[in-house]
Amino acid sequence: MFRISQYLRELAQAQATGHWPAVRERAARGPVVIWNLIRRCNLTCKHCYALSADHDYAGELSLQEVFAVMDDLKAFGVPALILSGGEPLLRPDLFEIAARARQLGFYTGLSTNGTLIDAPMAGRIARAGFDYVGISLDGLRATHDRFRRLDGAFDRSLAAIGHLGAVGVKVGLRYTMTALNAHDLPALLALMREVGAHKFYFSHLNYAGRGNIHRDQDAQHQATRAAMQLLFDHAWAAAQAGSLDDYVSGNNDADGPFLLQWTRQHLPRWEDALRQRLVAWGGNASGQMVANIDNLGHVHPDTMWWHHDLGSVRARPFSQIWNDTGDALMAGLKARPRPVQGRCAGCRHLAICNGNTRVRAQQLTGNPWFEDPGCYLRDDEVGAASTPLPPARRQRRIEVTHA
Ligand code: SF4
Repeated sequence: MFRISQYLRELAQAQATGHWPAVRERAARGPVVIWNLIRRCNLTCKHCYALSADHDYAGELSLQEVFAVMDDLKAFGVPALILSGGEPLLRPDLFEIAARARQLGFYTGLSTNGTLIDAPMAGRIARAGFDYVGISLDGLRATHDRFRRLDGAFDRSLAAIGHLGAVGVKVGLRYTMTALNAHDLPALLALMREVGAHKFYFSHLNYAGRGNIHRDQDAQHQATRAAMQLLFDHAWAAAQAGSLDDYVSGNNDADGPFLLQWTRQHLPRWEDALRQRLVAWGGNASGQMVANIDNLGHVHPDTMWWHHDLGSVRARPFSQIWNDTGDALMAGLKARPRPVQGRCAGCRHLAICNGNTRVRAQQLTGNPWFEDPGCYLRDDEVGAASTPLPPARRQRRIEVTHA
């Protein structure tokens, strides 16, 4: 995750005081774990990476198994759990899991489609002590209901935001941009304020695109650049106003270098200081500081890697699986620098971006270390030339996103 607002708040403070603020980051020992506790969902969204449906799935972790894994995660230094699905609110023991998470001192987030949250459910969520609830919105009403394949889904999710806000739960919008909903982004950013949400999570489509050359003419890359400019502008306005509204992005770590370019253009005095901060952030964290456990207990480098199984928590503790670099992909993901190739290897921003989201390269070319085809920076901006894609897989495309 790229915390746009965090860096723009620091920039605003630097502008106001004349010096970059001292920042003390808490060093986490273990990764943030995104945990798909259940695959069942009351919706069947077009873009769901879990391919969920409204029926039970056999073999999911029992409550006692979940508790045992939580104990291991705590001992391993995992700071945060993001409870997801499917639709996590369909898991009958979700609130027992949340209570245990709170007892163990995890920062606990809930990732939900929001359609099951009425006023009583919002009260339960508040009493359970969730630190944050993220609700997915794919666009305005017509777009969202089409994506979610349910008339009224938008209104229900919007109502959920209101119910949660009324009982003091921090709530944010989660939005994944595609060619089909990019036009709704400005209105969604306005809606965030109207409905009292305080966080906007912009997820890039984790796709493998049409080609790997001519980035400057690629419509999707141009749309991404425009969207990021818009997010930066909103986050900058909020930072200057002293607002605590958060704008964050995910699934494209080129956002870091792109913010650096934005700073060079608007606040050149602080470019070097920001570069140091971004190098300290370190870019893509899959297989390092972000982990995923699926509903059956299988561990993956992150949620986009469900096709790569690192092992089951039923067979070995998560802590052992996560530290095992006998898996070639995990060895590469944990390496610093990663063994990336092509223009990522020659990129002047590699120390910031860490080679971006490797699953796109793997899906498009079969080679997880090929340069990221989803990078929207031009060759002249990264200081390295693009490599033509292997022709046989040039047309392959995946579209996956969070619940
Ligand atoms: S070229 Fe590669 S390393 Fe450089 S910013 Fe793009 S994705 Fe990141």
